[in-house]
Amino acid sequence: MTKIRIGNGYDLHQLVEGRPLILGGIQIEHSLGLLGHSDADVLTHAIMDALLGALSLGDIGHYFPPTDPQWAGADSVQLLAQVHELIREQGWQIGNLDSVVVAERPKLKPHLAAMRDRISGVLGLQADQISIKATTNEQLGPVGREEAIVAYAVVLLTADS
Ligand code: MG
Repeated sequence: MTKIRIGNGYDLHQLVEGRPLILGGIQIEHSLGLLGHSDADVLTHAIMDALLGALSLGDIGHYFPPTDPQWAGADSVQLLAQVHELIREQGWQIGNLDSVVVAERPKLKPHLAAMRDRISGVLGLQADQISIKATTNEQLGPVGREEAIVAYAVVLLTADS
């Protein structure tokens, strides 16, 4: 008998000048970057919240509070590794992970494979267990005005009972 759990994650970070753009652990050349206490990797944050949510473990703000100087400029992929360890300690593993990044610019398609390789490396996933998609917001709203980037993630966890 296999137990299953589902979790979803959402995150938004503001786009500003003078910050690097890091998505899925990959630094992308762009005139704007994401504002945040850590490296503001909005995709990795959404994935972390999906993992935590699947086991009712709260959210990333609980584990890595933005008020804690320890996490200033933190590499979010390292935080993801810590969250993954928490999941594994409780006997769960990832069945699959699906995600989408919503950004007007830059074009993310050329970077999706690198993001997938980085995240799957950290989580120990096969290529067919992880999906990272990209879309625009059709120039509508804060994402469409290039004021922010948003990410959504859904994860399925499995465990032997
Ligand atoms: Mg965040």
